[in-house]
Amino acid sequence: MTTVLEDGIPEVNEQETTTIRNLVNGGLVDAIDGGWGESINPATGRVHARYPESGAEDVDRAVSAAVEAFPNWSGLPVRERSAHLRRLADLIDSNRDRLARLESIDQGKTLAQATDIEIPRAASNFRFFAGAVEGAPSELHQMDGQAINYTLRRPRGVAGCISPWNLPLYLLTWKIAPALATGNTVVAKPSEVTPATAGVLAELAIEAGLPPGVLNIVHGAGSTVGQRIVEHPDVPTVTFTGSTAVGRRISEVAGPMFKRISLELGGKNPVIVCEDADLDAAMDDIVRSSFANQGEICLCGSRILVHRSRLAEFMDIFLQRVRGLRVGDPLSPESDLGAIVSREHLEKIESYVQLAVDEGGKIACGGTRPSALPERCSDGFFFEPTVVLGLPQACRTNQEEIFGPVVSVQGYDTHAEAVTKANDVPYGLACCIYTRDLARAHRMAARIDAGIVWINCWMVRDLRTPFGGWKSSGVGREGGQDALRFFTEPTNVCLNLE
Ligand code: NAD
Repeated sequence: MTTVLEDGIPEVNEQETTTIRNLVNGGLVDAIDGGWGESINPATGRVHARYPESGAEDVDRAVSAAVEAFPNWSGLPVRERSAHLRRLADLIDSNRDRLARLESIDQGKTLAQATDIEIPRAASNFRFFAGAVEGAPSELHQMDGQAINYTLRRPRGVAGCISPWNLPLYLLTWKIAPALATGNTVVAKPSEVTPATAGVLAELAIEAGLPPGVLNIVHGAGSTVGQRIVEHPDVPTVTFTGSTAVGRRISEVAGPMFKRISLELGGKNPVIVCEDADLDAAMDDIVRSSFANQGEICLCGSRILVHRSRLAEFMDIFLQRVRGLRVGDPLSPESDLGAIVSREHLEKIESYVQLAVDEGGKIACGGTRPSALPERCSDGFFFEPTVVLGLPQACRTNQEEIFGPVVSVQGYDTHAEAVTKANDVPYGLACCIYTRDLARAHRMAARIDAGIVWINCWMVRDLRTPFGGWKSSGVGREGGQDALRFFTEPTNVCLNLE
């Protein structure tokens, strides 16, 4: 149990180091060559965990185990597979506080974000796909008394699931759950930057009684472990969430091997505020969509487009709200923003803020590391929520993904201009539109090149809906039936009736 100190911060033993192991063939194991990598707590800058620095041979063993487990697992009745997933979901729920604390320490996110949103969502991912596969519709096409076609869907074999550091357990389980529910076996690779909660998931999978080899988790670098999963001939399916640059490399390897790939990549999401927007109602959302999880959510809005008639009013209210956000110890209930995931990422964010200034932007607030932090966090990686004004559409700051607590605000005069600006980036993941005129909202939504358009809301997620991006934001869709289709191979059976 975690002791809670007077100021509400769970007690942290700074000397404590968590050891994470791979899950291969039902056992917790070290890397074959015995190497270890270190995971840094971004709030303190100190090592808090070590993980197996695995290599290609570790992946090969995991793939062999997954291949061996496939016939039995895919042959189980659906309700039995779903029962396994529900047990795992229950174990995630009963370990919520432990997982949330570890996620916060590993990633820098606030404890509240991990406890209230991300860990419960990891459990929901398993529960949702356990139910979705049980209720999956079947397809039958009749041909006027001549023939009946029905479509069989079978699991594809071993699925490679590769995930990023921003929502570690949430996104890893979003891939593992549908893969397992549909009868595939899995070799998963969490980000080496945030391996901790995947280490606990491995323990919980054993406790849930998942048969050996059904779920394997291999830790290590993308260029070794990730690369080997993608190029392994016995892994026909790869689902990847991460940067557009790595997604491109994965396509280059997997394409000529005719693998099925799903790529969930970067974003540069617009938030459109129309002249009739209810700013009081919208402001909570816009502040959250800009700075939740330090802006390290692929769905965060990073370009706010405001109708020029409301720009001054919007800026007054928005800046007042942003200046009130508290950056601090991720474990403190007082903090609205925690730490940036790594020193390297903090430096990348800083270089983009410098670029924004060089490109002629005005820093309306933030733009620096915070001056006052608790002693425990003095070597941590923190950045103030930052708002930039006055940049042209075409500049790099408005075109490239920063993936941090930095938003750029631009004005527009017509709705056509707002839509053009919204679409005029290489990405197309998500968009928000704030207006009281729903007919206009529908018209605009139909012209936005993005996988999700939210009208008067942000981050409302129904797991049945297709999730994914246009253009450089990705290939394919996750969620609901799209995920069940992705992880299965159809065979049409045609029965002659004549
Ligand atoms: P990243 O691309 O650097 O790494 C993602 C994963 O890929 C990690 O596990 C990494 O080890 C692995 N990897 C690296 N090189 C590899 C290779 N050659 N072969 C196979 N695997 C390899 O991304 P990141 O920095 O961890 O995450 C941030 C990015 O993820 C941002 O661009 C963000 O927009 C994106 N993201 C997208 C979504 C979405 O749903 N579209 C969700 C979350 C994050």
